Amino acid sequence: MDYTEGKGWHDPQIVPYSPLTLDPAAMVFHYGQAVFEGLKAYRNHEDKAWLFRPDQNFKRMNRSLSRLSMPLIDEAFMIEALKQLVATEKEWIPTDSGTSLYIRPFVIATEPCFGVRASHTYKFIILLSPVGAYYSGGMKPVKIYVENNYVRAVRGGTGNAKVAGNYAGSLKAQEEAKEKGYEQVLWLDGIENKYVEEVGSMNVFFKVKGEVWVPALNGSILEGITRDSTIHMLKDWGVTVVEKRISMEELYEAYTKDELEEAFGTGTAAVISPIGEMNWNGHQMIINGEQTGELTTKLYDQMTGIQYGLLEDKFGWSVE
Ligand code: PMP
Repeated sequence: MDYTEGKGWHDPQIVPYSPLTLDPAAMVFHYGQAVFEGLKAYRNHEDKAWLFRPDQNFKRMNRSLSRLSMPLIDEAFMIEALKQLVATEKEWIPTDSGTSLYIRPFVIATEPCFGVRASHTYKFIILLSPVGAYYSGGMKPVKIYVENNYVRAVRGGTGNAKVAGNYAGSLKAQEEAKEKGYEQVLWLDGIENKYVEEVGSMNVFFKVKGEVWVPALNGSILEGITRDSTIHMLKDWGVTVVEKRISMEELYEAYTKDELEEAFGTGTAAVISPIGEMNWNGHQMIINGEQTGELTTKLYDQMTGIQYGLLEDKFGWSVE
């Protein structure tokens, strides 16, 4: 679907997957007006399909669009479009083996112009791709490198928006962490380089002395939908969830006192991902003997249970 200033969004259509033709001067190539989302649809053997909290994705998408001075899209329209689109895709396998349909909505600036200003034309596209189970051989705790050289986001920047540039700026750190033998980067705040923000494409949680700590949203952390669902679920179980600024010093101190019991990331792709090891300025922290913790496992089972349609959806998260 296209946007033209004065006319608004127009001409929605469903077309087979094919390359896109854009003017080389299209502003997205030069000034980075590109916003995206990621969500999943699931399906059962009776051919019933559903989406997981799509309203939250499109609310976040509109917040991201607003941050980059791009035109908003009506949420109800987007959800309806998505339902129709999902109905056309018959190739993906029912969800009981962990398979799902990954959905990537995105908006890019298409106007050819060298001036630095918001584009007057845009394209909104939704891509669909069947994906297999994230963990084929059971959950495997990841090794995390706490980044102390690069920053992902600063307050007032675009860290809490899902914009392409945030990811471009994080690749170098990701590569360097991989070279050191770590799978993911844990970002600290961009002002004092002291407080925990999030992992590459996941929000992060720590179980300390029976409570669960999660970095409070501060304007530079992405408001993950799995993060929100996790907090709801934990509170529903009566677990104390503390949303606060968490410094690495505090976390390391808890670790040295044997009080850091579990750590995990949350995100659409992996859902819940156990963290087995963290390296902070050369301090190695082995969490729960590099084994997936009890709470982490329970969260994964319950969250995927609801997503796959195997457990009661008591929060009303699935949208048919
Ligand atoms: N932080 C970042 C930077 C991400 O890219 C993602 C993935 N969208 C998340 C956190 C987790 O968000 P969600 O649970 O909505 O997938």
